[in-house]
Amino acid sequence: FNVPIAVNEPVKSYAPGSPERAAVLDAYKTMFNSQINVPMYINGKDVTTDKTNTMSPPHDHKHVVGTHAIAEQKHIDEAISTALEAREAWADTPWEHRAGIFLKAAELIAGPYRAKINAATMIAQSKTVHQAEIDAACELIDFLRFNVQYMTEIYHDQPESTSDAWNRLEYRPLEGFVYAVTPFNFTAIAGNLPACMALMGNVVVWKPSDSQIYSAKVIMDVFKEAGVPAGVINVVFGDPVMITDTVLASPDFSGLHFTGSTYVFKELWKQIGNNIHNYKTYPKIVGETGGKDFIVAHKTAHPKQVATAIVRGAFEFQGQKCSAASRAYVSKSIWNEVKDYVIEDVNSFKMGSPEDLSNFVTAVIHEGSFDKLAKYIDQAKTDNNVEIIVGGNHDKSKGYFIEPTVIVTEDPKYTTMQEELFGPVITIYVYEDDKFSETLTLVDQTSEYALTGAILAQDRYAVVEATKALKNCAGNFYINDKPTGAVVGQQPFGGARASGTNDKAGSALNLLRWVSPRMIKETF
Ligand code: GLU
Repeated sequence: FNVPIAVNEPVKSYAPGSPERAAVLDAYKTMFNSQINVPMYINGKDVTTDKTNTMSPPHDHKHVVGTHAIAEQKHIDEAISTALEAREAWADTPWEHRAGIFLKAAELIAGPYRAKINAATMIAQSKTVHQAEIDAACELIDFLRFNVQYMTEIYHDQPESTSDAWNRLEYRPLEGFVYAVTPFNFTAIAGNLPACMALMGNVVVWKPSDSQIYSAKVIMDVFKEAGVPAGVINVVFGDPVMITDTVLASPDFSGLHFTGSTYVFKELWKQIGNNIHNYKTYPKIVGETGGKDFIVAHKTAHPKQVATAIVRGAFEFQGQKCSAASRAYVSKSIWNEVKDYVIEDVNSFKMGSPEDLSNFVTAVIHEGSFDKLAKYIDQAKTDNNVEIIVGGNHDKSKGYFIEPTVIVTEDPKYTTMQEELFGPVITIYVYEDDKFSETLTLVDQTSEYALTGAILAQDRYAVVEATKALKNCAGNFYINDKPTGAVVGQQPFGGARASGTNDKAGSALNLLRWVSPRMIKETF
């Protein structure tokens, strides 16, 4: 199979004086000061509605940047029937042409759409330019490029044949249509979930998160320009219950590709179970959900490295990554040094609008998230045996700003050690140097999640012990690094337990879920 060898898109620096800096600031300013109406996209047509919702940046929530359409039931019915009508022609489109469309989408993002998709992600999701660049530009480009390579590897995987039995696996797309439900926190995930299923020949109904519609619009424009045919990817917005009820009631529903909360994913799974007798085929269910990701620092870890893993892992993009470090276990003899570095680092962070590129921290996604985080932080201020060593302030008058907050607790089962907060808060428990093994057991038993985690240690035996003891605690495990920032093509991403079905995003394992192979034996 002759396809371009996938390479990771180089991350641009946005240094003062660089052309990309000027371009993104220009795009930000223009977009921030204009109004757009985001239509849905069904059967290759823009669909507007009388009823709309407004869109506002989380860091400036009184400022409106536009509106988006809201689906009625008939729109969802149309999205489904349109997808089904487009199915046969798309499934029969030679794989080279499907690949070509998504490779073109990657190049459009790498070039003409880069400033726009980054600026949209800064406005809609309050990402700093660096967090937007590694997500909306580089990771999405990487997904599109690497998926083409993985697709060809899958198609290449064929059984043995003999002179009188020619055996062939035909990697058909799923019968029916598939449903992509995507989160606000990664523009790359929003683009990848529908794109990777369509690449494998499936037709898609895609519902982005309300908080990401503004940047989803840029993805839709890219898909359109790249040549995704009408009906192959249909984009709908609005009431998630109505949309999901309609989609899951269709007998042709054949797959769910989900990234979002554990609770919603379990509810969808239940609903699919309740409808199981109505479906023509067993739907495939793939989900990446929550996390309560950990850092364990052994007494032999370098304190500066531990502090960097903590602050970068916990506070980049305001801790709103499923992979974000949110509980840390630090050995007592290195704690004082770690603590000083953590406080120094956090105090050096500037907080504010992403338009000022020197800000490291911006706003959290919406008021609901702000209120929840503020409640946990205020509770920690009054609880016994708990201390906030840095941060703790919050203010939602202009944007949903929560200071990066470090809680230290003497109770390793304190609420914020166990519950997923999804914001810039990390809780640290300091353990006695000789209680390393017991601490590993504690890490395993404290959370229902198993997405990411890290061990920091210079002692090889400690690394070996932790790797074994924490075997089931993380789908992505890091040694001497922070637990975030998986790169497509290098660290396929996903976790088990309450964190998801662990069908590694950005890998052949994931793409294999979106095919229904037919085994053909031919004799002569
Ligand atoms: N892949 C991202 C990372 O490694 C996290 C994705 C997510 O938050 O869903 O940081």
